[in-house]
Amino acid sequence: MPEKMKAAVMHGIRDVRLEEIDKPVCGDNQILVKVHTVGVCGSDLHYYTEGAIGDFVVKPPFILGHESAGVVCEVGKSVSGFKVGDRVSLEPGVPCGKCGFCKEGRYNLCSHVIFFATPPVDGVFAEYVAYPPEWAFKLPDNMSFVEGALIEPLSVGIHAANQGGADLGKSALIFGCGCIGLVTLMALKSKGVSDIYMCDMVGLRMEKAKELGASAVFDVSKCDVIDEVMKLTDGQGVDMVYEMTGAEKAIQSCGKAVKRGGTVVLVGMGSKTSIMFDFGDILFKEAEIKTVFRYRNIYGGAIQAVKGGSIPLKKIVSHSYKLNNISEALEYHVQNKSDIIKMVIEM
Ligand SMILES: [Zn+2]
Ligand SMILES: [Zn+2]
Repeated sequence: MPEKMKAAVMHGIRDVRLEEIDKPVCGDNQILVKVHTVGVCGSDLHYYTEGAIGDFVVKPPFILGHESAGVVCEVGKSVSGFKVGDRVSLEPGVPCGKCGFCKEGRYNLCSHVIFFATPPVDGVFAEYVAYPPEWAFKLPDNMSFVEGALIEPLSVGIHAANQGGADLGKSALIFGCGCIGLVTLMALKSKGVSDIYMCDMVGLRMEKAKELGASAVFDVSKCDVIDEVMKLTDGQGVDMVYEMTGAEKAIQSCGKAVKRGGTVVLVGMGSKTSIMFDFGDILFKEAEIKTVFRYRNIYGGAIQAVKGGSIPLKKIVSHSYKLNNISEALEYHVQNKSDIIKMVIEM
C-alpha cells in the first residue's frame, strides 16, 4: 500500500475538497519536499472560479497552488548538494532544457515546460511534492517559509522591472496595487527607481502601496491619473509604465503616461484582451511595449535580495489559512477580494 498524504483536490468549479491521496515517491533524481507554505495566486482563483485560463482547462481531479516553500525530507540516490532538513523554495516550472529558448536562457518561453497547477500538471496544495533539485533553491536561515513561497510572485515583479529597464533615478507608474503591483514596487525600489507612482481604487491596497514606499498613490475613481502624473513629471510622463490590472481603461492609458523613449510593460491579463489602443500615443514618442510571461533566472537573486533586507516581502501577506480549511479560504478569497492583498496556505 502506498503511503498517503493530505491534498486539496479540485473536483469542479468552486469545489475543492481535502482528501487523502497517494504520497509521491522520491525518484533517484528528485528530492521529496514536505510543503510548508503555499501562496494563493490570482491564477489559482481563476481556475477555481472559471475552471480554465485560455486553453488550459481543468480536468478534475486537479490540485491548485504553485507558490511553495518547504523542507527536504528525502533525497534521491543520484542527487547531490541537498540534505534532509534543507529549507527550500521551489521554482514552479521545469522547462525541457533542450529547446532553443531553454538553451539561450529564456526558459520561461519553453513550450514543453511542466508548471505547477497548470492543467494537466498538478500543483502543491498538498503535504508533499517530489521535485527535481535543479529547481529548488535553499532558503537562508533568516528567511521564513512565507517569504520562500512569495519568491514566486516577487520573481514576476523583478522580471517586470527588468523588462522595463529599471535603473537608478528612473520614474515609474504602476496600474494596480494588488500583489503583483506591490512586488513590482518593491523590485523597482530595490533597483534604485526613485519616483514610483501607483493607482488603484481599493483603499486597503492603496494604503499598503503607501506603506511600502510608493511616492504617490492615486484613486482612479476620484482623479485622472494621467493628469496627476503629468503634474508630477513636468508634463513629461514616466520612464516606465507597468500595467498589472488587465483593465481596458488602464491599458489604454499606458501610452499616454509613458515618457518619450520610455517603456510600457504589460503584465496583467483581463477577461477582455481585444482592446482599442491609440498607437498615436507611442509612435511619436518612440516608446516600446513589452510583455511579461512568468520569469527566468530570477529565483536565486530574489532570495538574496530578500535575505539582504532590501525587499520587505512579508508585509504583503494579509491572510493565512491552514490546508485543512482550504475550501473556506478559497471561498473567502473569492467573496472578499478587496479585503485581501495576499493569502497564504500553511500546511
Ligand atoms: Zn503566482
Ligand atoms: Zn525548452
